[in-house]
Amino acid sequence: MTIQWFPGHMAKAKREVQEKLKLVDIVFELVDARLPLSSRNPMIDEVIQQKPRLILLNKADMADESETKKWIEYFSNKGFKAVAVNSFQGKGLQQVTKAAQEILADKWARMRAKGMKNRAIRAMIVGIPNVGKSTLINRLAKRNVAKTGNTPGVTKAQQWVKVGKELELLDTPGILWPKFEDPEVGLKLALTGAIKDAIINMEDLAVYALNFLSTHYPEQMRERYGIDSVDEEIVKTFDHIGRLRNVLGAGGEIDYDRVSELIVRDIRNLELGKLTFDFVEEELEKETVEN
Ligand code: GDP
Repeated sequence: MTIQWFPGHMAKAKREVQEKLKLVDIVFELVDARLPLSSRNPMIDEVIQQKPRLILLNKADMADESETKKWIEYFSNKGFKAVAVNSFQGKGLQQVTKAAQEILADKWARMRAKGMKNRAIRAMIVGIPNVGKSTLINRLAKRNVAKTGNTPGVTKAQQWVKVGKELELLDTPGILWPKFEDPEVGLKLALTGAIKDAIINMEDLAVYALNFLSTHYPEQMRERYGIDSVDEEIVKTFDHIGRLRNVLGAGGEIDYDRVSELIVRDIRNLELGKLTFDFVEEELEKETVEN
């Protein structure tokens, strides 16, 4: 499913999330652990404002573990608690309630001081399409309550789902748009499969992927393709991989479309191992330049 994000849709999506915000104590901002910044909504701070927030780095099973640790620290330095989870297998989810309780500890203590009774924390999940919102809701609820592949703007009655005694979750997530003004963000989202192939030029994506691998993961590249950098003439790198993997057309020539697809598929299927596509060091450098 591809969502067409027109300006009107974005405004509506923002409104819908802000309506639901009134119902909850805390927001779980879901991002992809492989690209914790590129998979964020660019206006998230403006949308959520002062509402307490827990960042969940989902799909941690597919990300480079050492980079995930750096991202958790990065968010912590910005004042946000972040937790790595794998919604698919339900790993790390026990930490979610605990982290939410820690974030809300002061507020709950104030409530108790006023004589109010303890109640479950109310939460909602927000994130861009494909980041795993429905999977997480279903895992936390321990049953199928959220449909995967849901669309923004389709309003239905809100229901609370209980997650143990201490947490209640809205069964419909808030869906927000990704940051598509930056072409590199688009390429990273495409490489992780968050954007439909129909709107991507596979060859451009494969060129980006090869350059990315040679810069950040040369060892993994060597293991898979026998080379750890791209040739100055990128077509020679395609030729090499095409011959290595026998991706030839009927006349024995290299089939570049299929080589491109193979490289992208290899990355998505973790054939080069667990990779992360956003780097804390690069982000901190950018932030230093901007300030
Ligand atoms: P939504 O659009 O945000 O609701 O995303 P979905 O819940 O539909 O998930 C998108 C895809 O990511 C599905 O194929 C899920 O199976 C997969 N997925 C979700 N969470 C995880 C995870 O933690 N690990 C892995 N490996 N896959 C996940």
